[in-house]
Amino acid sequence: MSEAFNVADIFGEDVFNDTVMQERLPKKVYRDLKKTIEEGKELDLATADVIAHEMKEWAIEKGATHYTHWFQPLTGVTAEKHDSFISAPMPSGKVLMSFSGKELIKGEPDASSFPSGGLRATFEARGYTAWDCTSPAFVRKDAAGATLCIPTAFCSYTGEALDQKTPLLRSMEAINIQALRLIRLFGNTTSKKVTPSVGPEQEYFLVDAKKFQQRKDLIYTGRTLFGAMPPKGQELDDHYFGTIRQRIAGFMRDVNIELWKVGVTSKTQHNEVAPAQHELAPIYAPANVAVDHNHLVMQTLKRVAGQHGLKCLLHEKPFAGVNGSGKHDNWSLITDDGKNLLDPGKTPHENIQFLLVLTCILKAVDEHADLLRESAADPGNDHRLGANEAPPAIISIFLGDQLEDVIEQLVSTGEATHSLKGGKLKTGVRTLPDLAKDATDRNRTSPFAFTGNKFEFRMVGSRDSVAGPNVVLNTIIAEAFSEACDVLEQAEDFEMAVHDLIKQYATDHQRIIFNGNGYSEEWVKEAERRGLPNISSMVEAIPALTTEKSVAMFEKFKVFTRAELESREEIKYENYAKAINIEARTMIDMASKQFVPAFIKYTKSLANTVIAVRDAGADASVQSDLLNEVSGYLAETKRALETLMKVTEQAAAMPEGGDQARYYHSDVVPAMEALRAPVDALEMIVDKEAWPMPSYGDLIFEV
Ligand code: ADP
Ligand code: MG
Repeated sequence: MSEAFNVADIFGEDVFNDTVMQERLPKKVYRDLKKTIEEGKELDLATADVIAHEMKEWAIEKGATHYTHWFQPLTGVTAEKHDSFISAPMPSGKVLMSFSGKELIKGEPDASSFPSGGLRATFEARGYTAWDCTSPAFVRKDAAGATLCIPTAFCSYTGEALDQKTPLLRSMEAINIQALRLIRLFGNTTSKKVTPSVGPEQEYFLVDAKKFQQRKDLIYTGRTLFGAMPPKGQELDDHYFGTIRQRIAGFMRDVNIELWKVGVTSKTQHNEVAPAQHELAPIYAPANVAVDHNHLVMQTLKRVAGQHGLKCLLHEKPFAGVNGSGKHDNWSLITDDGKNLLDPGKTPHENIQFLLVLTCILKAVDEHADLLRESAADPGNDHRLGANEAPPAIISIFLGDQLEDVIEQLVSTGEATHSLKGGKLKTGVRTLPDLAKDATDRNRTSPFAFTGNKFEFRMVGSRDSVAGPNVVLNTIIAEAFSEACDVLEQAEDFEMAVHDLIKQYATDHQRIIFNGNGYSEEWVKEAERRGLPNISSMVEAIPALTTEKSVAMFEKFKVFTRAELESREEIKYENYAKAINIEARTMIDMASKQFVPAFIKYTKSLANTVIAVRDAGADASVQSDLLNEVSGYLAETKRALETLMKVTEQAAAMPEGGDQARYYHSDVVPAMEALRAPVDALEMIVDKEAWPMPSYGDLIFEV
């Protein structure tokens, strides 16, 4: 057993949080900073100087030698450049440790080496990072020592967003303005701010680091590109919520300690459906903090895994044939005085404000299903969405029996007069208490599900930032609120108008509601009949970014300019093409240097056996049948390898952009599958000793 400790004592100990600020900052400075954090008031440089000085002193006490502006460029991972606190030596030869307000609020990393899409060609390479004071700074301790990390946004010289955070902050502002308009209509005069709250549940796999090192596909691409299923997969459901093995438990403990220290509210951990798959969920937080924290979670999982001789796989589909990993994005809107706009109360049919919010969300999701789908598109997620495990690629909303019934009443009679009740759960065992039941069961197959007082968007990939999906959610719902307010603010009879509007939205957008089995073939047909988009791949999803509908909305709410959207579209195509190119080349490398030589060796030993057995006068038909079978697959492997080499070369020679990405999808991906098939078939018949790398069984059952 490792040493006991008190979580409350270590929680947030490395965060420059409100308590630290109150203790260390002069009263006036503290008040000014709070105004900036809470009301967005500008911070003057003199105040920033004082904050920077105190932050530095505090960080140095924690052992920090460096500071970094920590940001989220469009590479998918976070970026940082470390500067030590030392200033130029004094005549005495000694140095002072310094950190100015200017250094706190602004950084200047060279933007030219980060993806910027078209923005790089048209604008200067200079980029700026700007302090996001609404997400607290923290000291991170690792092999580099201790580093003061300052969460920042990253923009170009001319103010275009080059990162995930800038549009997120803009979208939070947009929904704040529109949600305030909406609640004012219902007589709320006291709430000052409405914040989207986000709780991302993170799924991941753990494998043994030594075995990982023997798989080039895992090293280069984060997923296996070859591999046959072992005799046992996840069919017994014995891993989900199963007892956590000691090695993994030790890992989780260290992850939690690291996260708690930097203020991440790591709350829930359990084994997931697939063998070697696990989940970690924090307590929800304001969207930008939740996004920062999710990045910290992903980094911490990877770092701590290394300390335990493990490798953490965040890829959406590390292993074919067992569940992939996602990230459920739980989302709600909460006022500064603690009211959740998505809380239906006990009798939702009487809660008019809730019904308006709900029907606005139905409208937003129905009208912008393509954008929401796009926000979850990444190369890894192409293996999950629509593949009978994660949600289908069709966006629909699960409301549950109670709310669906309320909507049904509204649509059919124009009036909702009652709400279904949850009732009591009877266990049939006298010694067990009867439990109060929720009014609604769960539905695991829905991509967008109402879960009590929040929506859960379940399409997001495990490796992806949750920023993008939340930018879309915030903006499309801000638009729906804004349109509703435009009508209601002009209404002569508010009661009548709101009643009519709710009925109209419910009727117009009822088609987006689906409570059934999202995995079924019938749903695909039904969705098509309803006219809902079924976008099955990333390359088909990307164009949603720059439709006129999308540009008009994002520009209206000042979340993206057209140029920013076009640049993101370009970057997404590039990212897709690059990811598939790396996968294809890794397959070519593995097939040429590992599989084909291993098969040749194996056929040779089989041939020798056939000869020896025949020479000995015995029947060698079993051996020679096997030899024929293996030789056949070997020939197929060689042919498929040549095709893959050819199409990959062609793809790589194309100019970057949509056509290239589509070619990777239409020609390279199938060629990869064609190469995988004979190799996986051979894995089932070739001697384990002759197999050149750890198998699926070795990787996921022996951690
Ligand atoms: P599940 O049972 O689906 O795993 P949980 O109840 O564990 O769901 O919650 C999952 C995530 O949702 C957690 O991160 C939790 O903090 C978050 N969450 C709970 N309430 C809200 C809310 N009102 N808004 C946003 N996220 C929330
Ligand atoms: Mg969960």
